Amino acid sequence: MNYNNFFKDAISGLKAEGRYRVFANLERIVGKFPKSLYHPENGEAPREITVWCSNDYLGMGQHPKVLDAMDKAVSGQGGGAGGTRNISGSNHLHVALEHELADLHGKEAALLMTSGYVANWTTLSTLGSKLPDCVIISDSQNHNSMIEGMRHSKAERRIWNHNDVEHLEAILKDLGPERAKIVAFESVYSMDGDIAPIGQILDLCEKYNAISYLDEVHAVGMYGPRGGGVAERDGVMHRVDIVQGTLAKAFGVIGGYIAARPEIVDFVRSFGNGFIFTSSHPPSIAAGALAAVRHLKESNAERIAQKERAETLRERMREVGLPVMDAPSHIVPLMVGNAAMCKEASDRLLFEHDIYVQPINYPTVPRGTERLRFTPGPLHNDELMDHLIDSLLAVWSQLGISKAA
Ligand code: PMP
Repeated sequence: MNYNNFFKDAISGLKAEGRYRVFANLERIVGKFPKSLYHPENGEAPREITVWCSNDYLGMGQHPKVLDAMDKAVSGQGGGAGGTRNISGSNHLHVALEHELADLHGKEAALLMTSGYVANWTTLSTLGSKLPDCVIISDSQNHNSMIEGMRHSKAERRIWNHNDVEHLEAILKDLGPERAKIVAFESVYSMDGDIAPIGQILDLCEKYNAISYLDEVHAVGMYGPRGGGVAERDGVMHRVDIVQGTLAKAFGVIGGYIAARPEIVDFVRSFGNGFIFTSSHPPSIAAGALAAVRHLKESNAERIAQKERAETLRERMREVGLPVMDAPSHIVPLMVGNAAMCKEASDRLLFEHDIYVQPINYPTVPRGTERLRFTPGPLHNDELMDHLIDSLLAVWSQLGISKAA
């Protein structure tokens, strides 16, 4: 086996398809969000650009309360937490954050994990492997972190057509009430920006005695009067068995969690390898996340401003004939439909217009639906939006990309 040829050929294949990933090298600057310094690959001096694809949806990663809490935790408690949760790494800030998250979702308990990815992987792999003869019923567009967790569990998996409750019911009926079942789905699907009919899915979970597992990664902090997610907004939060979320998007820091009734949380805490065998977050991370969660429980200002910005951007794109996808959420996807073209559009926006929006290609989205995904935040003002629209029109006409949605 020639290992190097194997690795090189695999990368050449990605490059030929226009799918080779290049990460924009950014330096964030406190107080300037959504601007950032971009460090070009060719070693040229860094220059200021506007980020239009950040998942720090509300700018909480630079909120004074968050920074202050993190600074205090670093100067008071130092760098790391000192171990796994089990061996000296359980900090009072982790515990306080878990209480805060349980309260956010109206649950009795919560469990903090390394990231949203790890929370999905750990919880689904643990429940799927330990519940006797379990079947996991998974929405066809579920995130990779759920898919990998389910696969690892080796539980039987049934895929239900995206957001199609009739199909879900047919599968549940077929499995019958006695079999252990988990229905795994998301609230806001981050690439199309569409939203699950959570209430109807919960009706079916209750009717057929299935555990409901809801990933609210793109919705926590963003929806509901206290930022509890779409389930809170829809008044059905109390009916969800397990809510999973992240601290790395609207809450602006890092980390993932589940919130559920105590028996479930204690079970994952006790049997979940992805929780047990890894070191816990630095106290400063928990402090920052705690400040963000507390702030967004009290304040609707950021959510209201974000919603207005997203609606305005969508409207402005429509007005000038750009093929913006309809979406009832904070995400604004603009269709390109070709991987190489999508990359080229993103490059031109960055190199010629100082606008950064990452191309979204297969396997994140199906081939032929490659797109630019905009996440306007409260701080993307009218001036930035004018510049974005003018730049998009220039690039669209240079590349001859179709304007038909
Ligand atoms: N679930 C969904 C739906 C996601 O989109 C992501 C990542 N973007 C995750 C889970 C993983 O969350 P995290 O980034 O906190 O690991």
